[in-house]
Amino acid sequence: MARIPVRDTKPERALRAALGRLGIADLECNAAHLPGQPDVVLPALRTAGFAHGCFWHHHEGCKHGRVPATAYPWAQKFKCTRARDAATRSALVTAGWRVLTVWECALLGPDALPQNDLDGAVKAFLGGKAPTLEVEGRGVLAHVDHPQAA
Ligand SMILES: [Zn+2]
Repeated sequence: MARIPVRDTKPERALRAALGRLGIADLECNAAHLPGQPDVVLPALRTAGFAHGCFWHHHEGCKHGRVPATAYPWAQKFKCTRARDAATRSALVTAGWRVLTVWECALLGPDALPQNDLDGAVKAFLGGKAPTLEVEGRGVLAHVDHPQAA
């Protein structure tokens, strides 16, 4: 395998930079005490943030989220990753946290959202009531369905 996902990745730094532009200084990084170890936590706003790498978290419909054609069982691995991410969001929301997920493609590269669009979407979410927001590249902002307890 090429590499192991590391902490303090480029997308994480880009997400923290966006929050910094919004004047949010009260940030906690890699909070191990919360489900899914969010990449960034905004304690005052009870919000957990994730900067998801499109490959490792298998961003569906994204050109960076494709399954490599190798012997390694990627499809199985990605299925587990996606299920774990959904369970993490659900656990955080159930515990009263709001969850912001920003995909790598929204932060970096040719499809990245214009800084104003990204900042505006994050700001609107932080000032609103929606439990979750998912931001991806290609100029698309999608609200994740609130994972209600069955
Ligand atoms: Zn993506």
